[in-house]
Amino acid sequence: MPKLLLEKAKTLEPRNPNKSTALFGGKSSGILNWNDIAYPHWYKMYKRLVGNYWQADEVNMAGDVKQFSTLTESEREAYLKIIGLLSTLDAPQTRTALLLSLYATDASVQSIMAVIAQQEAVHNESYSYVLSSVVSLDEQNESFQLGRKDPILLKRNENITQQYNNFVEEPTIENILKTLVYTSLLEGMFFYSGFAFFYNLARHNKMVGTSTMISYINRDELEHGRFISELFRATLAENPEYNTSEFIDWVYAHFKESVELENEWSRYVLGDVEGIDLDEMTGYIKYRANKMLRMMGLNEIYTEHVDNPMKWIRAYVDNFDGTKTDFFEQKSRQYTKTSDLNGFDDL
Ligand code: ZN
Ligand code: ZN
Repeated sequence: MPKLLLEKAKTLEPRNPNKSTALFGGKSSGILNWNDIAYPHWYKMYKRLVGNYWQADEVNMAGDVKQFSTLTESEREAYLKIIGLLSTLDAPQTRTALLLSLYATDASVQSIMAVIAQQEAVHNESYSYVLSSVVSLDEQNESFQLGRKDPILLKRNENITQQYNNFVEEPTIENILKTLVYTSLLEGMFFYSGFAFFYNLARHNKMVGTSTMISYINRDELEHGRFISELFRATLAENPEYNTSEFIDWVYAHFKESVELENEWSRYVLGDVEGIDLDEMTGYIKYRANKMLRMMGLNEIYTEHVDNPMKWIRAYVDNFDGTKTDFFEQKSRQYTKTSDLNGFDDL
């Protein structure tokens, strides 16, 4: 197939219609009326994203500050490594959300991506915020160097790094689809062994401030994953020439490889942490991969892992099944949100 490089969408082009003619490579004026968009139900997604607004310093870290030094050495080490990992996901995602929006010729996608990018920026900030609460500047910097230096982390991030940079260099529909595949993996799977580590601490009443923040991030990532998988399906439907067995095989192969790398990483970083069963973690990773594939309109590839093997985790964060968690409700926040679009039940 010839490589047709996409142009960045025009910012304002009055000769084009307001309602876009295609998500990517189409025409639109740049004027957004949410009541006249190509995929009307995306308005509800936008509202839900905006309704999840939060900021890092809303979370009180006073208890964690006292507790950090009482953690075991393996827990402290895993804590710093996992924050290092999470920062290597949220930073590129801030920019990739922007890049997708620059090539999207649909103003509703541009707006949704702007909200996602803002949330990824808050996630990044929150890692600096939690680390500055518990360790010295030297140790904070060391944790943020891991994404550049830790060989297992570098190996784990190699494919996504390559795909995200391919999109920068060659903005084609194919690279957009492949970037959406890696974005689905990122939002729906890459974060989750890290999240599980913090929830495991919380269920032993340790570092509850950090875990509260992680569950805010987790809630955002679930919404992002939901939108990105919709965007993937819609983009593929609009460009049926890419809906080939070759491309779908590429998706499955990259999901499988990502699961293996995730497994290797989680064993490396969680091996000495008490309370996490590594085989259960492998099952959880496969369960998350299945879930994302299903949302992308594809088939599950791990038929023995259609259910969540880490049941305890559901107390800390919801999944798409609509189970309500009590975890957020225990925490007082500076403001109360009343919009019913903000409810966990809608996830
Ligand atoms: Zn994020
Ligand atoms: Zn995200």
